[in-house]
Amino acid sequence: MRRRRNVKILATLGPASREPNMIRRLFEAGADVFRINMSHTDHAGLASFVQSIRAIEAELDRPIGILADLQGPKLRIGAVAGGATDLIAGSVVRIGLDPAPGDATHLSLPHKEVFAVLKSGGQLLVDDGKLRLRIEEVAADYVTARVELGGRLTDRKGVNVPDVLLPIAALSAKDRADLDRALELGVDWIALSFVQRPEDVAEARKIVAGRAGVLAKIEKPAAFERLDEIIELSDALMVARGDLGVELPLEQVPGRQKQITRAARGAGKPVVVATQMLESMITSPVPTRAEVSDVATAVFDGADAVMLSAESASGKYPIEAVEMMDRIARSIEADPQYRMLIDIQRTDPEGTTPDAITAASRQVARTVKAAAIVCWTGSGSTGLRAARERPSAPIIALTPIAATGRRLAIAWGLHCVVTEDAHDFEDMVDRACRIAFREGFATAGQRIVVTAGVPLGTPGATNLLRVAFVGRSAGAVN
Ligand code: PGA
Ligand code: MN
Repeated sequence: MRRRRNVKILATLGPASREPNMIRRLFEAGADVFRINMSHTDHAGLASFVQSIRAIEAELDRPIGILADLQGPKLRIGAVAGGATDLIAGSVVRIGLDPAPGDATHLSLPHKEVFAVLKSGGQLLVDDGKLRLRIEEVAADYVTARVELGGRLTDRKGVNVPDVLLPIAALSAKDRADLDRALELGVDWIALSFVQRPEDVAEARKIVAGRAGVLAKIEKPAAFERLDEIIELSDALMVARGDLGVELPLEQVPGRQKQITRAARGAGKPVVVATQMLESMITSPVPTRAEVSDVATAVFDGADAVMLSAESASGKYPIEAVEMMDRIARSIEADPQYRMLIDIQRTDPEGTTPDAITAASRQVARTVKAAAIVCWTGSGSTGLRAARERPSAPIIALTPIAATGRRLAIAWGLHCVVTEDAHDFEDMVDRACRIAFREGFATAGQRIVVTAGVPLGTPGATNLLRVAFVGRSAGAVN
């Protein structure tokens, strides 16, 4: 099954997409990676999603990526007496450690560490910024705050503190337990929420220890202070516009989106644009013009992937939302402006042999009008460098390692195929021709560009490029 676009689609699974048949239809409609949001999924739910996805993968013989998104150190107001209370604009609320159920004058914030950094004049944003309070008095274990934007507050709503670097661990106890379980189940990507500093990524990397890719969600203003270091330590990035738009003025989010996508593309790290992309499709079978334009912008920017959250997890039209994203992506990528905008943003190859070869493969493919670039990749690193070139020819990433094929499912333009290890370079070229033919990328008589590394199986050893003719016999075997 071949996608007709470069940008990938991440679809979040949830109550609306629990059934294996639904997941299968989402995949067929175009979802390349499934996201499981650990804020809303327990371990049994996670295991069942993973099992369903792996069954579909085996049945359809296509690698599928699975991303477990950890909740992260999200602050929450404690319980509220009776489940709800109304905060009145202009009133003063005392917010402290006392765990007793709260009301309109007293609320509990059961996070001891944060009181040390709250400042008079700072903001507390509750329930995605629907409620806003301004801190007045600060003590060791409580603050008083004036309600600026009032409204109904229900139990355990999230709290954002935009103006400070919070002295809290990157992974909560729940995150650690979720992470262990996700790794046991063999997910391909771990997403870290509310990354503030490079050390947060480093801490998670140590635990993950190469068993999955680590994706840093950029949703805190503090992350921009050391964005380059965060990118360096991460395997992928997400522009998490939901929380970013709570913590920053909304009008700053588009500029930040450009900044993150460009920096990630320059580094060759996959970047996902997320949240509210087709929000109205939660309840409507067609999106708004503005949403279509938003998806288009991410595609024009050369993002690796666009993401659906509630649209596919709990909305009424999950399949339609994936189909719509697929249609938008295909149409934009066929637009004459697309290639020009992608090329303008290209960055030079780094001074390494794999980069020299992958940059050459793009040029050679264009000169000889190759039907595809086929790159052999073990760890996935050459696959990502090939994607970083954003060539016009389609890219097939061939790997003997199933986990690599799954992980690369998130990356721009890579059609991943898991195949037996080749025994020599001739075998690599032969196999590349046969697979390009079989997967519908090349027909007899067309040329493909093959890149590979010798010695075989050494990571980062890509040092060969061959232009090969797909022969008439390509379809005969395998
Ligand atoms: P979330 O992350 O859906 O886990 O909050 C994405 C975002 O904040 O945009
Ligand atoms: Mn978020």
